Amino acid sequence: MSDEIYLDNHATTPLDPRVLAVFVDALTHTFGNASSVDYLLGDRAAEAVARAQEEVAQVVGARRQNVVFTSGATEAINIALQGLALERADRRDLPLRIATSRIEHPAVLDTCLGLERRGLASIRWLPVDGCARLDLDALEATCREGIDVACVIAAHNEVGTIQPMDVIAAIARRFGAATLFDTTQAAGRIPIDFVALGEPFLVLSAHKMYGPKGIGCLVLPADAPISPVLFGGGQQRGLRPGTLPVPSIVAFGEAARLRGVEMASDELRIAGLRDRLKFRLTAALPSAVLNGDPVHRLAGNLHVSIPGVHNSTVTARLRGRVAVATGSACSSGIEAPSRSLRAMGLSDSLTRSAFRFGVGKFNTAAEIDRAADIVAEEVRRVRAVGGSAADLEAAGP
Ligand code: PLP
Repeated sequence: MSDEIYLDNHATTPLDPRVLAVFVDALTHTFGNASSVDYLLGDRAAEAVARAQEEVAQVVGARRQNVVFTSGATEAINIALQGLALERADRRDLPLRIATSRIEHPAVLDTCLGLERRGLASIRWLPVDGCARLDLDALEATCREGIDVACVIAAHNEVGTIQPMDVIAAIARRFGAATLFDTTQAAGRIPIDFVALGEPFLVLSAHKMYGPKGIGCLVLPADAPISPVLFGGGQQRGLRPGTLPVPSIVAFGEAARLRGVEMASDELRIAGLRDRLKFRLTAALPSAVLNGDPVHRLAGNLHVSIPGVHNSTVTARLRGRVAVATGSACSSGIEAPSRSLRAMGLSDSLTRSAFRFGVGKFNTAAEIDRAADIVAEEVRRVRAVGGSAADLEAAGP
């Protein structure tokens, strides 16, 4: 086990030991192929999948029939957006008209751009403000001009801003457009009601809710007009063929079930820890600036710019002691300025000095205090070495 204090619960969450127990049990005992209809082990696997589907559906107020399991949110987004575009291509009714913003996760952004490059989609860019809030008037005006689908990140993976999903869904619906909410960070952290939202496309990922990596799902209406992107044995409505990873699905179901039971109390406690971190950090480093919406944000999210330091210089010194991110987890490992922060209009210096803290349910108050002290100490050291005297904060705790 690492001694590093883990404060990056937006990148991924640790596996809940109770989910692990269910996972291991399913790996051992529920190994049948869920599509094998000739014997009991197949039936048991299919029943376990159906139960998990029910549990996952309940986290977002959907029904079991709405859930298509995938390897995670990225695949779910691709199946939905590419599937919508391909359905239109099948009907020779291209391009798919998408409205989205530049603060989306690359899973949405790059899928949209890839479809546009191939002539399968056209993109209307929606503005966001300095807190990453979507411009709802612009959304309405764009919908009025005619779009097919609005793609909106429900809770932001960097700055934690939560969008008004109900208002957005209502606007899109009024103009006959579908909605895809990227709920990867939101599901299991804030209440979501698929039916009340008019049955939008939703995407979930188990590893953001204390489940295993490599499993997630697309939640979609029964009559969604999408064509398959993948072909195979026809499993899961033919939208995501391939042998179902039953143990991962069962573990995802358990993670979702636990979220349903514990989300409200956990998130309250997490918000308290996040506020404690914010208080202790800003007491030590009063020039720290909060990014994102101060009110409508994920309970565990603290995104701050700390003037006078380069974020990666500080995280290099924190390595092994505090796990905190300079931006979103980047698959290539290449350091690049955040597209989201740029779209929010943050200055280069605020972007370079930005830190994303993500508090999770397994963090303790002692960890929070210790992490805040270590971060403050390292920031002061970096400033003392490289920063100007004007950048230095008064010595704190
Ligand atoms: N969307 C958002 C908002 C995310 O935060 C992430 C993961 O960081 C993804 C999509 C991709 O999720 P997955 O890792 O399940 O593919």
